[in-house]
Amino acid sequence: MTSRKQHALDAGYIAERMNPGHPGHKVVIYNATEQGLDDNGGRYAVVCDMHGSVCNETSLPRARSLMKSPRTFCEECTL
Ligand SMILES: [Zn+2]
Repeated sequence: MTSRKQHALDAGYIAERMNPGHPGHKVVIYNATEQGLDDNGGRYAVVCDMHGSVCNETSLPRARSLMKSPRTFCEECTL
């Protein structure tokens, strides 16, 4: 149960935002390596904390845009 989890103290935390389709859940941007995630696709990792989906991005502006629309990378958010 992570719906009320605060992510600001997580390793590699950069930003978070409410999941627009699932209020109470968050979409979080991390520095991938600091969070222990794969950085092959880019140094930024956008994570849907409700479903655990991860999407890598090389640019922070693009990561922020993904954060606003998790449906573009999290299959379960589209359901
Ligand atoms: Zn999701």
